[in-house]
Amino acid sequence: SLLPTTHYITKNDVIPMYQSRNKWSHKGMFGHSLIIGGSFGKIGAVTLATKAALKIGSGLVSAYLPKCGYQILQISVPEAMVEVDSEKLLTYYNFKTKPTVIGIGPGMGTTDKTAVGFEAFLKENKTQLVIDADALNLLSKNESLLQYLPNKSVLTPHPKELQRLLGVWKNDYEKLEKAISFSTKYNVILVIKGAHTTVIDEQQLYINSTGNPALATGGSGDVLTGIITGLIAQGYQPLHAAIFGVYLHGKTADLALQKTSYETFTATTILDYLAEAILDLF
Ligand code: AMP
Ligand code: MG
Repeated sequence: SLLPTTHYITKNDVIPMYQSRNKWSHKGMFGHSLIIGGSFGKIGAVTLATKAALKIGSGLVSAYLPKCGYQILQISVPEAMVEVDSEKLLTYYNFKTKPTVIGIGPGMGTTDKTAVGFEAFLKENKTQLVIDADALNLLSKNESLLQYLPNKSVLTPHPKELQRLLGVWKNDYEKLEKAISFSTKYNVILVIKGAHTTVIDEQQLYINSTGNPALATGGSGDVLTGIITGLIAQGYQPLHAAIFGVYLHGKTADLALQKTSYETFTATTILDYLAEAILDLF
């Protein structure tokens, strides 16, 4: 049976992952993130992920979302570029942008029309992916699509999304066993979100040390998707982007509690504390 190696991720593990900038850096060196998601009433999810990809340092960020979200996104994230699909749903997935990496799923919905477009997108796509939320739910509904994921795609399920993906488990041991074999079978990186978010790759377990229940709030995971996507855009290898991303995401909540409460912390607060989380490394 499987004997995974377990690593507990602390500051000393992520410091060497950090990629510093030099005087002659320009935006072309920090990649282009594309965030795909949103549906009528859930434009906020794609907006938060787009902001997060910018905030973590992606050189350029684009969003692809339903037409009804166009002005919302342009006004709330003026730094981002936008392309649109049909009025209220993602249907066509016919964006022209050629990004470095795509983060897909937040607020996307799982209607039949969206499922058909998503399937066509996956079969065509060769770009590195970060897959979250409804994109995970669509994969769970049609497991034959898993074969189309690029190697080392990063999947970020919360507990319910994980259960849809893996099926029910009897205990924590079986859950990890299922997760490890899933990651190995499809050659993807699993980020199992929760109180101690666990990243799985190549039969290795990386358990995050940061974070607290302040993060248990709507949009928190959408911000993580943007952070991991934005790190990959800048050239972090997908495993490092996943580990460093969950570390920084959790660290914002730990630092925030020195000045704010669990209750008043929202997904936007994660973005407000990202700078402090990075500065805390040094
Ligand atoms: P989502 O459910 O997709 O919004 O994701 C929630 C995010 O918040 C994930 O990154 C979780 O790891 C994090 N989170 C939720 N609850 C806790 C908790 N009790 N302790 C630490 N992190 C948490
Ligand atoms: Mg989520």
